[in-house]
Amino acid sequence: MGAVRGMAGIVVLDEHDEGLQEERQPTWHARDVAMRRAAQAGVPVLLVSPCPSATAAAAFPAERQLRPSVGDERAGWPIVDIVDRTRDEPWQKSLATSPLIRELRDHGRRVVCVINTTGRARLLACRKCRSIQRCEVCEAAVAQRDDLHFACARCATVRPPVCQVCGAGAFAALRVGVTRLREEFEAAAGRPVVAVTGKDDDTEPVAEAGVYIGTEAVLHRVRRADTVAFLDFDAELLAPRYRATEQSLTLLARAARVVGGRAGGGRILVQTFLPKHEVLDAVLHADPGRLMTKELQRRRELGFPPSAAIAVASGSGVEDFVTALRATGVLASLTLDGRALLRAPTWDVLGDALAATPRPKGSRLRIEVDPPRL
Ligand SMILES: [Zn+2]
Ligand SMILES: [Zn+2]
Repeated sequence: MGAVRGMAGIVVLDEHDEGLQEERQPTWHARDVAMRRAAQAGVPVLLVSPCPSATAAAAFPAERQLRPSVGDERAGWPIVDIVDRTRDEPWQKSLATSPLIRELRDHGRRVVCVINTTGRARLLACRKCRSIQRCEVCEAAVAQRDDLHFACARCATVRPPVCQVCGAGAFAALRVGVTRLREEFEAAAGRPVVAVTGKDDDTEPVAEAGVYIGTEAVLHRVRRADTVAFLDFDAELLAPRYRATEQSLTLLARAARVVGGRAGGGRILVQTFLPKHEVLDAVLHADPGRLMTKELQRRRELGFPPSAAIAVASGSGVEDFVTALRATGVLASLTLDGRALLRAPTWDVLGDALAATPRPKGSRLRIEVDPPRL
């Protein structure tokens, strides 16, 4: 962008997209760079999005926001069906709800199922003694990998699938993952189901199928479908991340693109115990903008961007770096996993402090500005 001469303006398409944030240091988001550059060059910047980010909403007062007509915005969204799991009988038993099974069995429809739990299961109990299976090193719950072995997500210890309490070898999966669900859904659908768990930028084409199941990467790898079903959307809505609301909305917008507008029969199925959640409400009314007023207020109260500036520092030497940073007025706290959360009232204050604080000798620091998964 720096090389463009005589620039008349900047347009950022899908400004909400996390893919526009650089993964290497410094972890700039293209939208923020565009806004800064446009201001420096004295030219206008236009941010475009079906679900504007909190940053964009805060940067542009209502009178500078352009909206399509209500009719156009509605037509762009598919039909959204909320599957209220609190009504399930037996309660909470299975992710294969009856509305989902109807979609799976309709061989005229291509269906994509999304669940962000990989492997066979994330939480397991022994069928004989009912003990939750935990890591023998660090006591975190173990997950079952595709090769059936148990693996600890915290310390990576792997062991064979044998109960550490009673020695039995049969387990109940309390939180199932993609691999296990693929088998279950294939039986329910009566047609092949393909699992997709690669990275978003994986260019291998996926095998042709009528039903896919995968982590959210599947929404980037399968281009067209009739239905996208979110099997456990509460894992997104309730994720312990300050941007969970925004990210849940983004997922729904992504799914809407895969299935197309309501006129073409596109459908999103959302399985949830929170059918009245504000994110779902916004999408049901085809009005994502309504979320942001509340969201911005919450961010202000909790001291998160765009009302404040945050970064995460990690790597060797982080303790000394944090001590030096504190002298500049930046709030810095070390977390259990050895990373440091840095907070300041504005990006300029944080940026100046990070630039001015010398790196401890021999340190290898990584600093992520406003990491998307915090
Ligand atoms: Zn046991
Ligand atoms: Zn462990």
